Amino acid sequence: MRLPRFEYYAPETLEAALSLLEDRGEGAFVMAGGTDMMVKMSHGRLKPKTIISLKSIPGMDMISFDPANGMMIGATTRLADILTDLRIETHYPALIQAVQTMANVEVRNMATLAGNICNAAPSADSAPPLMVMNAEVSLASVRGERRLPLSDFFRGPGLTLMQAGEIMTSIHLPAPQVGRGASYMRISARCGVDIAAVGVGVEVRVQSGVFSEARIVLGAVAPVPLRASGSEASLIGKPLNDETLELVSDMAAHESKPISDVRASADYRKRMVAVLTRRAITQAYERSTARHS
Ligand SMILES: Cc1cc2nc3c(=O)[nH]c(=O)nc-3n(C[C@H](O)[C@H](O)[C@H](O)COP(=O)(O)OP(=O)(O)OC[C@H]3O[C@@H](n4cnc5c(N)ncnc54)[C@H](O)[C@@H]3O)c2cc1C
Repeated sequence: MRLPRFEYYAPETLEAALSLLEDRGEGAFVMAGGTDMMVKMSHGRLKPKTIISLKSIPGMDMISFDPANGMMIGATTRLADILTDLRIETHYPALIQAVQTMANVEVRNMATLAGNICNAAPSADSAPPLMVMNAEVSLASVRGERRLPLSDFFRGPGLTLMQAGEIMTSIHLPAPQVGRGASYMRISARCGVDIAAVGVGVEVRVQSGVFSEARIVLGAVAPVPLRASGSEASLIGKPLNDETLELVSDMAAHESKPISDVRASADYRKRMVAVLTRRAITQAYERSTARHS
């Protein structure tokens, strides 16, 4: 692998990383696991002048959970660490479903959740489950910090609301609630190491046997992870049965805007949106009712 020449820094504080990023300006990139960046660099699609690794900053890989306030996942937390965290498995199984399908053991041992989000690929597996669970992200710069909903974050393939000089410091998930359940389903052209051809995240709230709230996000079928708001609305007030599932999954397929590429045709993707939406709603419903007991 032949890489372009670049300056490399591994600062030991967030403040030092932010100052370096500000100081080096255009051409400076932060790196977490490097699993997206190194591929782009080796193909000549990214030529950074400066790389600032975040991995030497103590505490930035922390995961914390509090039943009242929810989960905080630090920006250098590796995907492998998410998979082995029992609190995430118990309270946020849809995130585990996403991370389990990503890449392979070697990549998951290096890659981070924040890197997956900041890379902003339309197929990013973590985006649909995090968005349906109302995740928020914290961003820091030399000018201060801000926190914004992940649903506002993506602007196009590789494009986000992050401004020059900002570093994502953590990802936040709301406290788990009785009566809510979430699920993530994906399909890829090949099993094993392949990015998603379609991914569907669903979170529902069930009250008195009917859906009272719903969020549905479709991955890899639009330039950004796509909120299927018409499908969400059509689920409200309905019980789980074949009629509801058919109505909502057909509507989700209709709302998706896929392209044909090497992984799948647009037509196949639309059909798979319907199949995965049906399965994800069913699983989210089962999880929501399990939380009643
Ligand atoms: C073989 C292989 C298989 C893969 N399979 C999948 C898959 O199935 N599903 C999937 O979704 N992805 C997949 N990926 C893509 C990649 O592994 C993930 O996107 C991963 O989570 C990226 O994390 P990272 O820490 O390596 O990011 P990096 O490569 O370090 O960074 C990615 C981008 O995010 C920016 N960035 C990283 N951290 C921050 C931060 N804290 N603040 C601001 N900017 C930041 C970087 O500047 C860069 O632009 C695969 C990659 C490979 C090589």
